[in-house]
Amino acid sequence: AQNALFQSQKLEAIGKLTGGVAHDFNNLLSVITNGMALLRMNGVDQQNLSIVESIERAVTRGATLTRELLTFARQQPLKQERNNINAIIRSFEAVLRRANTGAVSLNLDLGGHLPDVMIDAAQFEAALLNLIVNAQDATPDGGTIDVRTRVVALDVNDVGTLPAGRYVAITVSDTGVGMSPDVVSRATEPFFTTKEIGKGTGLGLSQVYGFIQQSRGDINIDSALGKGARISIYLPALDDAIAAVVNKDKDRESVLVV
Ligand code: ADP
Repeated sequence: AQNALFQSQKLEAIGKLTGGVAHDFNNLLSVITNGMALLRMNGVDQQNLSIVESIERAVTRGATLTRELLTFARQQPLKQERNNINAIIRSFEAVLRRANTGAVSLNLDLGGHLPDVMIDAAQFEAALLNLIVNAQDATPDGGTIDVRTRVVALDVNDVGTLPAGRYVAITVSDTGVGMSPDVVSRATEPFFTTKEIGKGTGLGLSQVYGFIQQSRGDINIDSALGKGARISIYLPALDDAIAAVVNKDKDRESVLVV
């Protein structure tokens, strides 16, 4: 709990700082973007075309980065609503498949009936996309990414400090490069990244972590170097009254690794 408190205070401080910098930086980018448009209008000769194009690509990358930073810093209030995770994933499947550009096969295993959860659907989609993009980045030479949903019964402290109860578990597994123990323990820190400058912001998992905590859930990272990664999100299931339909989780190993 202390770690969670530290994490959220750190997030807040970093968020404020980042928001200011990203905002100013965005203004500078607009000046460059407008300048480039003017250059194009005046006509760019063949000799300079590739230079102009590379500047435009860099500006686009910069704009993506500042957008991510602003989203992170804004920490928008969540629209927590009763939702079914399988329904969200199904309605989002086409986008997921389009995002999956590499030589990676993406499998969805949305088994059986899931109880509803309280979640901001748009934020959940963003979180899932984050996990899938990370999984892709970790499998540059191809491999598989499995997205699986199920209901699990957790005992107290099985996952982080979650209370005992029924949870909807969403697991994204990949067959990629995996993480060392040090990377596993730092992966949700804001700005922690092992990716090259311009590629990673180190904000993906910290955003997912913050959002899932706010939704009264938790995430678990299970990974070793060369062994791929399995990131699981746990969200408290609503409707204990329909507990009868719950398929009690058989593969407990996936929820006991911390
Ligand atoms: P970013 O993707 O911008 O680096 P994240 O917060 O999403 O930021 O991830 C932090 C770090 O965690 C990554 O740089 C990477 O080292 C590690 N990581 C995250 N997901 C995976 C994965 N599926 N496989 C291997 N490493 C991962």
